Amino acid sequence: MSETRLRVMVIGAGLGGLCLAQGLRRRGVDVTVYERDDALLVRNQGYRLYIDPTGDRVLRESLPAELYDLFRATAGYPPLRIVKLDDQVNETRVLEDDPDETPISVDRLTLRQILFEGLADHVAFGKKLVRYDTSATGDGPVTAHFADGTTATGDVLIAADGVNSAVRRQYLPHARIMDSGVRQIYGKVPLDDHTRGLFRDVMFNVFTPLVGTRERYMGIGPHQPDEPVAQAAARLTPGAELHDSGAYMACYFGARVERFPHDDLRSLTSRELHQLALNMTKDWHPGLRAIIEHWLPDAVFPLTLRTSIPIPAWPTTPVTLLGDAIHTMSPAGGAGANTALRDAAALTEALAQAATGAPLIPELRKYEADMTAYGFAAVRESARDGAERSHQNPLPTD
Ligand SMILES: Cc1cc2nc3c(=O)[nH]c(=O)nc-3n(C[C@H](O)[C@H](O)[C@H](O)COP(=O)(O)OP(=O)(O)OC[C@H]3O[C@@H](n4cnc5c(N)ncnc54)[C@H](O)[C@@H]3O)c2cc1C
Repeated sequence: MSETRLRVMVIGAGLGGLCLAQGLRRRGVDVTVYERDDALLVRNQGYRLYIDPTGDRVLRESLPAELYDLFRATAGYPPLRIVKLDDQVNETRVLEDDPDETPISVDRLTLRQILFEGLADHVAFGKKLVRYDTSATGDGPVTAHFADGTTATGDVLIAADGVNSAVRRQYLPHARIMDSGVRQIYGKVPLDDHTRGLFRDVMFNVFTPLVGTRERYMGIGPHQPDEPVAQAAARLTPGAELHDSGAYMACYFGARVERFPHDDLRSLTSRELHQLALNMTKDWHPGLRAIIEHWLPDAVFPLTLRTSIPIPAWPTTPVTLLGDAIHTMSPAGGAGANTALRDAAALTEALAQAATGAPLIPELRKYEADMTAYGFAAVRESARDGAERSHQNPLPTD
């Protein structure tokens, strides 16, 4: 398809921004992604993601066939059975069981690399957006200003810059992000013949929630690629070098913030966080403590659980948002990335229509109406799940 004259600027090369760029490239739309980091893999982002049928559909529609096949080959397929345990590893309840549905697990780093394939000429690294300008009438070109003093101009600017979005802070300053009152410590256990024995069979299901006393809990989920990442890449996309996180068990320990000795866990080192998780589970079953002991010491990281607070519709302009930039949600529902991918597909359609002559603003208005309806519904549902499962603060009612 021939390239059109609509120039799309995307801020942020995360899952949503890259998926949008892939979709737009397939439709022949001119797109450049501006990413603040200097390269794709500068930070530890290698956690496990659960991809639902919507996320899978979007990836199938957005990616070239060989990249979609690579995503499926490097994904894992754990059974959809969720059995709740207590801190002495007693089974307390079956929460979900569907032998006909096979969920998809992926490593975030692997997925992000797959989404980046073929986009090297369309992603500018080291470009941290600090602000943007629009024309006086608000409908003309948009100019993005970056921390290195450079600028870029396009017809539309998409904020895909995540939970701390600089675009959202300028554009919708009334849109608030709230601390949900819960902290988590993430770890992972690489799976080999020895470490597999640490886990009960039930823990190889898609996800295992474990509820302790005193507002403490743990979550465990496997990631076992169907095919080794390097082998799948060599077979499907020769020349693509993908980081291989291997097979692992993703585990996190979480509790209400009041239970932790520090409310900002980000000041602690990976090893201090690891020790803290062990200290806070001294009364748990020895088998669970053995799992935490086997966490990779340098891959432990903290998380403050936050959520956006839904806002009413705003006037549409050539600046819009997707993913965590507008609807960050509690990870309790495993829906954040899936919703960002859904946005990317919807925006691809809207922008492709505008690129072939449809008026831009009505296309974006329709996107925003749909996106805020399903996106904020997912925020509310994730907040409800989080309040029920992990003692998160509820969303304000007013
Ligand atoms: C531990 C954990 C587990 C999760 N598990 C799941 C799960 O199982 N299923 C699920 O659906 N979701 C899950 N999520 C949520 C999911 O990861 C996010 O919802 C998703 O990554 C959001 O994608 P995004 O593209 O909106 O933002 P991000 O992926 O966060 O990307 C934002 C990008 O913008 C860049 N950026 C930021 N500021 C600027 C700036 N000023 N200028 C330029 N670039 C900038 C960042 O560097 C980053 O690359 C999980 C999250 C966490 C933390």
